[in-house]
Amino acid sequence: MKNTGKTGSKAPKVISRAGHNVSRDEISKAALKVLYRLHKAGYQAFLVGGGVRDAILDLHPKDFDIATDATPEEVRSLFSNCRLIGRRFRLAHVRFGREIIEVATFRAAANHKDDDSAHDTEGRIIRDNVYGTIDEDVWRRDFTCNALYYNIADFSIWDYTDGFADVKKKRLVLIGDPSQRLREDPVRMLRAVRFAGKLGFTIDKSVVEAMRGHTSLLTNVPAARLFDEFLKLFQSGFAEVTFDLLREHKLFGELFPATDEELSKDEKYLAFAHAALKNSDKRVAEGKSVTPMFLLGVFLWVPIKKLAEIRRAEEKMSESQSLSLAAYEIVSQQQRRISIPKRFTVPMREMLSLQPRFEHRRGKRAMNLLEHRRFRAAYDFMLLQSEVGQADPEIAKFWTDVQTQSPEERAMSFQMQSKPGQKRRPRRRRRRKPPQES
Ligand code: ATP
Ligand code: MG
Repeated sequence: MKNTGKTGSKAPKVISRAGHNVSRDEISKAALKVLYRLHKAGYQAFLVGGGVRDAILDLHPKDFDIATDATPEEVRSLFSNCRLIGRRFRLAHVRFGREIIEVATFRAAANHKDDDSAHDTEGRIIRDNVYGTIDEDVWRRDFTCNALYYNIADFSIWDYTDGFADVKKKRLVLIGDPSQRLREDPVRMLRAVRFAGKLGFTIDKSVVEAMRGHTSLLTNVPAARLFDEFLKLFQSGFAEVTFDLLREHKLFGELFPATDEELSKDEKYLAFAHAALKNSDKRVAEGKSVTPMFLLGVFLWVPIKKLAEIRRAEEKMSESQSLSLAAYEIVSQQQRRISIPKRFTVPMREMLSLQPRFEHRRGKRAMNLLEHRRFRAAYDFMLLQSEVGQADPEIAKFWTDVQTQSPEERAMSFQMQSKPGQKRRPRRRRRRKPPQES
């Protein structure tokens, strides 16, 4: 076991400014302001985490975390634009326009063996709120590459864990005993995969081996936290490679059990998921917005479609109604793993239940689909399906074309002109009210 460092007595290797490439130009003005003001007030002030790691990699970091020996209250007294957040451990958020700089007071590691109440029965950390010194703070961080401290006093980097060499070697190594660190916080498995995907790092063999025995511990992680992780995994522009890594390390099934089962037996569904992820990454690269509801819709699509068929066989209802009903049921199941806010599940259900309507290309009701508030998302979804041979390309072309037509052309496309003298038969419709989400 290396580097468990409970007492934090090990001295850091100090890499002087001449020995590294982290330039102040790579640190935001706001972060520099906070660092300098803390330093001038006599406190220690370090940039830490992803900001240092990404700067070493020339990746132009955007997110800056600061660590200091000032208490949150002391930080607040230095900045008027500062708010203290968090109950379990208090953090200071210093705001500059839209940018927020997070300032954390050094904390001691939670692996004090004499303090049982800090862990649950599986070893998960439930309490981690004791202030400490920098050489205690370092050991509670996850990976060596995330445990580098850039010192504003002399622009050196403090390295306790050989993190600098690991960044250069592009290796993700957990600090301390991998198995214990994953038990303390199983989300670290998702973080390993996320950093591997984003940075192109290799997950160290010791971590891969430890992950093998611990994937199921993710079930103990609060569903709300997993939703936050889900966003980071799939909205940062590396969704496709991250998805492959999650599957490779048997983590995807812990997040989306029903989806994982379908993906393993359905090549076309897998191709569809890949197309959607690729498309999402492309949008992020182009600076376009991405909504989590679209990918959630893709991930839940086949489980929902299958259940909808069952529900339709049980009771007479339209395809759209059965999809909406099945979406409600599958989403409820999924919520036990990842709590998806209603603002995403409601539009997702709408997007999916609109799918059968693309097959109807005649008359006013068909044409009205263009005005539906979920048309755009539903159309994009259908288009992706057609790209992987899961929807009729002719139908896709029809809906692509009608969007740019003049009102007259459109009326023609939907064959709207009723023949004189032709009587319309009154239509009877059965309505079934879909369940309301709570
Ligand atoms: P990015 O901002 O690119 O997602 P990051 O490494 O900065 O990456 P954050 O979630 O912002 O990640 O966390 C900041 C730092 O806090 C990390 O670099 C790490 O040192 C520490 N940290 C965050 N989450 C954990 C965790 N679950 N276990 C241990 N340390 C963590
Ligand atoms: Mg960060």
